[in-house]
Amino acid sequence: MSIKIAIDGPSGAGKTTLAKALSKELGFTYIDTGAMYRTIGLYMLDNGIDIDNEEEVVKNVDDVDIRIDYDENGQQIYLNGEDVSGRIRTPEVSHAASVTSAYGKVREKLVDMQREMASKINVVMDGRDIGTNVLKDADIKIFMVADTSVRATRRRDELKEKGIEKTHEEIEEDIKTRDHRDSNRENNPLMQAEDAYLLDSTKMSVEEEIEFVRRLYEKIIKEVK
Ligand code: C5P
Repeated sequence: MSIKIAIDGPSGAGKTTLAKALSKELGFTYIDTGAMYRTIGLYMLDNGIDIDNEEEVVKNVDDVDIRIDYDENGQQIYLNGEDVSGRIRTPEVSHAASVTSAYGKVREKLVDMQREMASKINVVMDGRDIGTNVLKDADIKIFMVADTSVRATRRRDELKEKGIEKTHEEIEEDIKTRDHRDSNRENNPLMQAEDAYLLDSTKMSVEEEIEFVRRLYEKIIKEVK
């Protein structure tokens, strides 16, 4: 049976950094589910589909073929055969992913894919509903949080690296809107699973976070043996 580590939390809480470092250390595959929602959002934008119109989005979602590959740079994501890994990190795509991920049919499609991927290999999977829905049986569940202002600073630095300039205030506003939408949607809202460990990354180094999960991992491995 494969080992599954689920990491959930709002954007900028540090999920990706921890998940990547952890998967490297444990030799697990890292699955970034946010990238999958972003890819659907990108498809809708590319094809001029009104993202606020659920019926239109749902009608088109079956035309989206998502494939994930791994190379030395990590996860690469393909949309109908095109590598879109570099195109899914813009603020426009963040917004489109945030809106379209609330639609039941969009979630159904991606949750099925995510479960299928995790059934065969050891994974660290991050997202919003991994511990509460996608991998309810995960061996370790982490719910990561951090102060909104710290999260906005991290996101601003990330965007800056990609040549996108936004003010701290703009980003903080955007983060709050996305948090609200993720936490209040009907379908699999963002929340901490009852059996998830809370990890506040505001003042922690990545090394401290890894150490926190490593200890949990060693404990469950002993129990499995
Ligand atoms: O994690 P990331 O910011 O890349 O995710 C983009 C958007 O996809 C989020 O704002 C969220 O609305 C949605 N998402 C989701 N469920 C997941 C992962 C992401 O609804 N498991």
